[in-house]
Amino acid sequence: MGSIRRTAVSLTVLLAVLACSPSNGSAAPTSARPAAGDAGAPGIGDADFPLDGNGGYDVAHYGLRLDYDPRKRHLNGAAAIQARATQRLSQFNLDLSGFDIGGVSVDDREATYSRSGDELTVIPAAPLAEGDRFTVKITYSGTPQPVKNATNLGTYGWIPTSDGAFVACEPNGARTWFPANDHPADKARFDFEITVPRGLTALANGELTGKPETSGGKTTFTWRERHPMVTYLATATLGRFELRQGKTAGGLRNLVAVDPEFRSSLDRVYTTTGAITDYWSTVFGAYPFSSTGGVVDNFPTGYALENQTKPMYGGFDPGESIIAHELAHQWFGNSLSIKRWRDLWLNEGFATYAEWLWSEHTGKGRAQETFDTTYARGADDPIWSYPPGRARPTDLFNESIYTRGAMTLHALRVAIGDPAFFRLLKEWNAQHRYEHVSTAQFIALAEKVSGKQLDKLFDAWLFQPRRPSLSS
Ligand SMILES: [Zn+2]
Repeated sequence: MGSIRRTAVSLTVLLAVLACSPSNGSAAPTSARPAAGDAGAPGIGDADFPLDGNGGYDVAHYGLRLDYDPRKRHLNGAAAIQARATQRLSQFNLDLSGFDIGGVSVDDREATYSRSGDELTVIPAAPLAEGDRFTVKITYSGTPQPVKNATNLGTYGWIPTSDGAFVACEPNGARTWFPANDHPADKARFDFEITVPRGLTALANGELTGKPETSGGKTTFTWRERHPMVTYLATATLGRFELRQGKTAGGLRNLVAVDPEFRSSLDRVYTTTGAITDYWSTVFGAYPFSSTGGVVDNFPTGYALENQTKPMYGGFDPGESIIAHELAHQWFGNSLSIKRWRDLWLNEGFATYAEWLWSEHTGKGRAQETFDTTYARGADDPIWSYPPGRARPTDLFNESIYTRGAMTLHALRVAIGDPAFFRLLKEWNAQHRYEHVSTAQFIALAEKVSGKQLDKLFDAWLFQPRRPSLSS
């Protein structure tokens, strides 16, 4: 995620959105009441976000069929989720915010369910054994409600716009439009079938699998993201868009869409996106996905999100720097994903450092100068009291995660030298492509690639609540 105006307001409402509301699902018959040990956990195990994601299964694929009417702000949804049980399951949870449930089945047998807050508990007709592959299907309808809070996150999730919807979900807004294992620790492949009024365009991750089909005044777009993706990166942004499609100089498919209000940006965003994607492929290693692109919508979120293959820019004309940031996330955050939110600097520190590298590449200033300017802010600057190696759930997107995270990488680069540093960036990507990563893994690889002992450097930059000395 990148912000066009980085504010440092603290995030206090994330946990409040998880507060319970009365159950409105059908009650489980008493005969189906599970033995407690067989119930999947309501959270995936991230203590900072205890109810995000769920335990007991691993999703392989989401098939989402959506029909959205922007005038009524009404969404009809059908989700088919293929998963594998990682324990015996008499019941399991999904995350879903709002909506009326039409029906739930597991392997085509009707299932019962209950709801509490954002937790949808599914009780299959018969318990699933550990290792079982199963498909849960859920139909639902209603008016999606984006998450709004007075924090440094702003509004996220499914956000209605004047002509459609802007869909950007970090950290946990996927649940505002589909039932999900809504935490980055569970990656899956996605197929989307999105129906909108004729004249509108629906833009999801990956590539179109066929020509859009129009009938009865509606057009259906089918998109496939064939690589693993975390739920907050899924999108279905829709509305009136002008498109430019083609290939980058390096031969990668490139699709940029802009709201008509940003028509004059289309060619520049398209060209810049292609050039930066190709450049990062030489710096970070082969591009991990099968297309690149971007979407500029007219809803003023004040931020951009690195949605897989299609970063979303919310209501502003994106400059080179933020495009460089969001495209760097395709490697750092999207291909290599964090398992716990506390490691967020592995996404944002790297994407911010990429902005510095892009500036260096284009002759607009060396990373060392950006580092020096920030360091010179003084020892009482707020980024020094917030160690970026441990993102806080109440202030997840603090500037320190971005800027001090990037400074950490620069300090590392100075300590180990350019050849080792850039070898490390490529090696990091190659070793963990499409997987999950942790800070400890990065430190271990940095030491291995450089042959240097680096624990003091990382401790000072990532974990101490004070400005590191430049000799450390
Ligand atoms: Zn970012």
